[in-house]
Amino acid sequence: MATQTVPRANPGETFLLSECYATIQGESTFVGTPTVFVRLYTCNLRCVWCDSMYAVEGGEYKEVSVRDLVARVRDLADPNDRGPRYGIRNVCWTGGEPLLQWQSIVGAIERLPADFVHTFETDGEVDLSAFDDATSAKREAGLVRYIMDVKCPGSGMKAKVAFENLRLLRREDEVKFVLADRTDYEFARNVITSRTIPAGTVLFSPVTPAHKVDRGLDPATLAKWILEDRLSVRLQPQVHKYIWPGKDRGI
Ligand code: SF4
Repeated sequence: MATQTVPRANPGETFLLSECYATIQGESTFVGTPTVFVRLYTCNLRCVWCDSMYAVEGGEYKEVSVRDLVARVRDLADPNDRGPRYGIRNVCWTGGEPLLQWQSIVGAIERLPADFVHTFETDGEVDLSAFDDATSAKREAGLVRYIMDVKCPGSGMKAKVAFENLRLLRREDEVKFVLADRTDYEFARNVITSRTIPAGTVLFSPVTPAHKVDRGLDPATLAKWILEDRLSVRLQPQVHKYIWPGKDRGI
């Protein structure tokens, strides 16, 4: 069987970039907020319901310098002097798994405006500690935040490193469980009720059809389970898929 060559960026110098665009954030407590998305290429996992496989495998990426990506993000954010309600201040780093390229991300954050808020949609299975140390001042100021997955059984992946990463989370971070069925719901309920989770927000997100999954989890069913158990979580459908139905890139 042919082995797949996993491409690598030059740490601190370049990115493997899938796409970069301005959109409305469809998930997390930032939902509804204009945001510049930076989708980086390659991932350490292969979730069965992945809705961005084009950023995981297939070779559709460009290698770009940190400087060029910073220029692109600035351009999209347009932080000009038109007035207090103009310009985008939120940057969402996603993928793929963005933190596989954390050294280059640190370089980009240093070159972007100091008041930008950077969120990281991370799969939980990459050790956060090195990046966390490198961005400690921004973390302290709430300007670097994690939206960290804990993978449920229905993803086909197994959460392991995520349980170590939990200790690094802060109040302004978010933990996300993507749920395919009742088994996933009970797994997530067990995790949040049996462990200390320093993050202020826990997201329960129903699977939507994608990749190897042709049926998702009905949000109303998930709502019923959450209410029956009186769980202190946030039900999080992917709002961007309601805004742009049928569109799977650039949203
Ligand atoms: S971790 Fe995210 S990007 Fe990677 S395969 Fe899973 S859903 Fe896709």
